[in-house]
Order: sequence, then C-alpha cells, then structure tokens
Amino acid sequence: MKITQENKQWLNDFNLTHPLVIAGPCSAETEEQVMKIAHELKNSDVSIFRAGIWKPRTRPGGFEGVGAIGLKWLQKAKAETGLLMATEVANATHVKLALEHDIDVLWIGARTTVNPFAVQEIADALQNTDKIVLVKNPVNPDLALWLGGVERLYNTGIKKLGVIHRGFSTYEKTKYRNIPEWQIPIELQNKFPDLVLICDPSHITGRRDMIQEVSQQALDLNYNGLMIETHTDPDNAWSDAAQQVTPSVLKKIFEDLKVKETHVEADDYNTEMIKLRANIDIADSKLLEILGYRMKVAEQIGALKKENNVAVLQNKRWNEILGKMILDGEEKGLSEEFILRIFKAIHQESITHQEKIINS
Ligand code: PEP
Ligand code: MN
Repeated sequence: MKITQENKQWLNDFNLTHPLVIAGPCSAETEEQVMKIAHELKNSDVSIFRAGIWKPRTRPGGFEGVGAIGLKWLQKAKAETGLLMATEVANATHVKLALEHDIDVLWIGARTTVNPFAVQEIADALQNTDKIVLVKNPVNPDLALWLGGVERLYNTGIKKLGVIHRGFSTYEKTKYRNIPEWQIPIELQNKFPDLVLICDPSHITGRRDMIQEVSQQALDLNYNGLMIETHTDPDNAWSDAAQQVTPSVLKKIFEDLKVKETHVEADDYNTEMIKLRANIDIADSKLLEILGYRMKVAEQIGALKKENNVAVLQNKRWNEILGKMILDGEEKGLSEEFILRIFKAIHQESITHQEKIINS
C-alpha cells in the first residue's frame, strides 16, 4: 500500500487553519435531537457532523440505533446547516442505505475493523464511489489488523482515506475506557505520514472531564483532527451518556486547545531538542541493558529451581516485589498504573526465560 498526498487531499480541500473536527451525538435519537445539535454546531470549528444510526452494543437489550429513518434526519441536517454528514457502517446494506441518503463520510467501527470479512464486504460495496472513509482501530491493539482494514479499502480504489484512534480494550481497570497505547498510532504515523489521523478522545476516555486533556495530547502528537461526541443533553443520551459534551463545552475545548507548529525554525529549539533526544536514546539503551541483565538473573533462578524441583511461579514473592515497586515508583513520580503494567510485562518475560531453562 502506498499512501500519498493524494489520499490526504480531501482534508486539504477543507482549507482549515485548525485541526479537522467531527462532532455530533453518539447516536441519532430523534429528528429534533439531530436538528438541534446540528444547528448548535453550525457556526463553529466543526466541519463534519457525526451520528450513529446503527449501534453495535456489547450486550443485547441496549439501544441499537434508530436505523435507516435516521439517515433522512441527517440529510435534512445537511441541507439546513451545510455540515457534511458522517455515520458508521458495518455491512453492505448499511453502505447501500448511506449512499442512497447522500452521507459524505463513512466510518468503520472498532468492532467491525476486527473482522476482515466485514471490512472487505464494506470495501466492495463502496467500489467506484468517492466517499471519505475512516477506519477506527480494532478493539484489540493490533496495528497490522488496523492497517489491513485500510488496505482493503485502498485496494478497492478508495482514495479519500483516514484512520480514527479510539483506544483499545483491556481486561484490567484503568482510568480510560479504552487505553490509548499511543505508541501504536505513532508507529502508524511513522509508516504512513500522509494517512489522515484523527483522535476520538470520547471513546478513549469514556468521561467528559478527560476529553480536553486527551485531545491536547493528540494535537501534541500532530494528529490531523478530532472526533468528539457532542449532545445537547448529554446526561440523557441514549448511548455513551458519560462521555458526551454539550456544544458549548465543545467550543470551550477548542478555545483552550493549543495547536503546535510541526517545524519551528529557531536554532536554539533545534539544538536543545537534539540534545534532549540524545539523552532519551542513552536512557533507553540503559533500560535495555538492565532488562537483559535481569533476565539473565531470572535464568539463574530457573536453573536453581530446576535442581530443587520447585515451581516457576511463586505468588507470594511476586506480590511483595510489586508492593515495594509501587512505593518506590511513587517516590520517583511514576504512577501505580504504569508500575503495574511495566512490572507485569517484566515478570511475564522472566517467567518465559525461567521456563526455557527448566524445560531444557
Ligand atoms: C461510536 O463512534 O459511537 C462507536 C460505536 O465507536 P467505536 O466503534 O469506536 O466503539
Ligand atoms: Mn459512542
């Protein structure tokens, strides 16, 4: 796949002096609700209005979307406000209906990106159209699967492409609804600098009080735009109530966001940045060296356990280590969440090394 400036042209055509904003409710609920929100977003930084028409719910019994009737409301909202309209599609029937109702932007949801059959079906249904198509990351942290989805659209000849980062599911409880794993979109950006990258802080955080912070992080990482769920009565929204903001809060968020320059000419800045990056490189190589050493020690422990016929996993010892590390980490300004994640990974790798010795 060769993503070029051509694939980004649709974004340049908006001629914006700020990042692209897609906003609107999680779900279209009623005609009045759609019209009210669209009108409140009309004279703002918002270029594209979003609303889910078909909602993939984790469990049956939740609100599953109003269905095709909602597409008529979006058409009306477009006629009255001039905003482009975006909705989620999960199969060929959705695509057909969305095309019939002149929807401008189609996005593939996180639960659909995981399924190559569904993505291919959507790509085929979109053949020979010139719609803007955005692919949300799959629910699991798998960059290849995400890019595979984009590639299926690309191979079908769809030119106006982009991706939406909405975070990843975890079994562990964190402060996020879906953890960002920023390194994944960063790697994607390095591989495909011309692929339009949009952040969805609403589904990453699941909480309206964290939208500003995560949006700013995305802009600091040079994302091209934001998709933010917006509702005139968030608390009574039929889906994702906790994460939606009102149009006026959205406008306040825009005012407070700082858009950084990608390239600053100042020499002082460049010199200082080169120095700081060199320090980071040194710290990273020290980290690797010390991790390599730790695994060697784990192998020696493995050898000793083998000689004495002792089990690899010793839970009591592990819980003691973890408790101590959380306290030590706190002193160094490291969060408990970070310590838990990093030591879990280190522990896992140590077990692998020990097992290699024990089973040899
Ligand atoms: C949505 O945008 O409302 C949605 C269902 O998102 P996701 O696919 O990211 O869960
Ligand atoms: Mn939602």
